[in-house]
Amino acid sequence: MISYKTLGLVNTREMFKKAVKGGYAIPAFNFNNMEQLQAIIMAAVETKSPVILQVSRGARDYANQTLLRYMAEGAVEYAKELGCEKPEIVLHLDHGDSFETCKSCIDMGFSSVMIDGSHLPYDENVALTKKVVEYAHQFDVTVEGELGVLAGVEDEVSAEESHYTKPEEVVDFVTKTGCDSLAISIGTSHGAYKFTPEQCTVDPETGRLLPPPLAFDVLEAIEKELPGFPIVLHGSSSVPQEDVDTINKYGGKMVAAVGIPEEQLRKAAKSAVCKINIDSDSRLAMTAAVRKALAEKPAEFDPRKYLGPARASMKELYMHKIVNVLGSNDKL
Ligand SMILES: [Zn+2]
Repeated sequence: MISYKTLGLVNTREMFKKAVKGGYAIPAFNFNNMEQLQAIIMAAVETKSPVILQVSRGARDYANQTLLRYMAEGAVEYAKELGCEKPEIVLHLDHGDSFETCKSCIDMGFSSVMIDGSHLPYDENVALTKKVVEYAHQFDVTVEGELGVLAGVEDEVSAEESHYTKPEEVVDFVTKTGCDSLAISIGTSHGAYKFTPEQCTVDPETGRLLPPPLAFDVLEAIEKELPGFPIVLHGSSSVPQEDVDTINKYGGKMVAAVGIPEEQLRKAAKSAVCKINIDSDSRLAMTAAVRKALAEKPAEFDPRKYLGPARASMKELYMHKIVNVLGSNDKL
């Protein structure tokens, strides 16, 4: 058993309290490799933002759970070396699928876990989430639960269609489970293809697809039921069209990729939404930079020559999200 506290990590409790009160949201960025982690930490330090490092099942399969944990520990020291005296870094399990997975992460130093029982019948979701909370709270690890179903595919989390969270269920769920934050479904979804062209309208000026708006009425109803309780949005990438264009320009083939407009996320960040998950946008930034670098210098074979620009591009993206979308800058 390793406590996250000895690794210099923090849980989400105080962080979320301040974020809800201050009308901003904490970035939750997924990471799978060193360049991505460096970019996240550089961006957080430069903008003086707290940050949540998320590890999905796909990341654990790809990069190994143990290695990722040590990388997060290294990230704390790296942040200090970059000049941040007191970094606030959370190591969070994204979409924990069972009690055992959550326990194993808690035991090896994660400071926060998500247990995703949203696909289960309500009572089973309550029972599973409660079990994880009871274990996690013994070690002061915070727990995110989920109610409602998000559409889309990301790291083996997939659903055909979304079901909005039912506001009438949230108080019962939070009271019975004791979870510290709640992921809800109000129209965001996983991946870079969040909506079909049929669900979108076409912007007459640019010809781009405009996605349907998020269900802010559902969010408001949930906030009314649970005043001040930390709410989480998954699947909140905006799928910047410049990156999609760059990918396609250099040999890629991404058709009709569409995300959540940033002005809607800005509005959500000012509410009780205090954690916003962003993964696809960083994948797009990385892929666009790698494709461009390789296309422009076809003789290059040093990975640092294309992963370096990819890292710089991701850092720029993370800083933009922190400062212009979430508002979590200057909070350390
Ligand atoms: Zn998610």
